[in-house]
Amino acid sequence: MLIVQKYGGTSVANPDRIKKVARHVADTFRNGHKVVVVVSAMAGETDRLLKLGHETGEAAAERELDALLATGEQASAALVAIAINNAGVPAVSLNAMQIPIVTDSCHQRARMKYIITDKINKLLSSGHIVIITGFQGVDDSGDFTTIGRGGSDTSAVAIAKVLNADWCEIYSDVEGLYSADPNACPKAVKIERASYEELLETAGAGAKVVHMHAVELAARHNVFLHLKKSPSLGADAAGTKITQDINMEDVMVSTVAQTLNEAKLSVEKVPNKVGIAARIFEPLARANINVDMIVQNVAKDGTSAISFTIAKQDLKKAMQLTEAAAREMGAGKVEVSGDVAKISIIGVGMRSHAGVAARMFETLARHGIDIQMISTSEIKVSVVIDSKHASKAVSVLHEAFISSA
Ligand code: ADP
Ligand code: ASP
Ligand code: MG
Repeated sequence: MLIVQKYGGTSVANPDRIKKVARHVADTFRNGHKVVVVVSAMAGETDRLLKLGHETGEAAAERELDALLATGEQASAALVAIAINNAGVPAVSLNAMQIPIVTDSCHQRARMKYIITDKINKLLSSGHIVIITGFQGVDDSGDFTTIGRGGSDTSAVAIAKVLNADWCEIYSDVEGLYSADPNACPKAVKIERASYEELLETAGAGAKVVHMHAVELAARHNVFLHLKKSPSLGADAAGTKITQDINMEDVMVSTVAQTLNEAKLSVEKVPNKVGIAARIFEPLARANINVDMIVQNVAKDGTSAISFTIAKQDLKKAMQLTEAAAREMGAGKVEVSGDVAKISIIGVGMRSHAGVAARMFETLARHGIDIQMISTSEIKVSVVIDSKHASKAVSVLHEAFISSA
């Protein structure tokens, strides 16, 4: 079998953990499999580099930030290769430029275009383990890019796809997918099997257990995903397998997710003309900025207020683009709120159960939690609330829908 194993920052946080990862990779190889490893930077390294960049120049150019961040993954890839060689199996590290992994030129939030597999395949055929830097790419002019925080998962799935791997294993600091973030909700329980759809909605709701684009890509191309706890952190449990088929038990709500990583922008006094929403959202789309929730209220004077949420990391750029659009169309000022949290409940069983949203709103109201925005999909209900209520909201919803189910 060909197996892609992705190790996150906590798995490679220090030499001792890297050696444990190397032993696990070497064991997989000795069991007769071809192995490609995708690594994140050592825990905290990407944050450290970003801080360093911003301290050195407040308006650090995104191109240079990407050049800087790319060093994090390059260091961990080389260290893992050193440790695997030391464990007696030949291993070679490759960065995005050496492969290459080609993306568009949207620095900090680039999208992958294609991956050339020749070098990787040649190394695999000659009995090597290949270690690849996650998170980074190069654009057509050869500049380093990065694909968004947490993006190494997406690199791993993309590599699994182009190599036609049998499995893509994602190792982190938790045993798999839980009914809520196990580090924030002590009553969370591990889920043995989940569908791509549930994982996609959970990741999209901000649970950083796997990068959302990674799940999207895996679902679209049938890449088998297996979430597991890192061997460098002790356990070797069954993890969570992600499959196409929907949950047979028909649970109404399988996960509760929260994110504090979103910011809300509100544009006031937007003139009510055809095509006006497009003028706000098109520039954001062109800049690869994902808009999550959108709410439009029409006021008595005929203008509207448009509020929407985006990832906090995109705030600066989104603010510039939205202010320009607002000025151009003669709208009022653009206001920002960073003190918001998005709380979501997700479950395939929602399709066959009515009244889930109402019960969610009632539960929050009973605990005095005000709702600012709402959005729903077939299997998810999300609300935006004041961030100070986030952890309480998660625990009361977990209690209402999961612990007591
Ligand atoms: P890595 O650095 O290995 O990529 P991450 O920190 O990105 O790992 O993702 C793992 C983290 O995801 C866990 O530590 C956990 O706090 C968080 N998480 C949030 N929601 C969930 C969930 N529903 N199930 C499991 N983990 C979750
Ligand atoms: N090192 C990058 C980050 O911290 C990518 C990743 O860990 O997936 O966001
Ligand atoms: Mg991650």
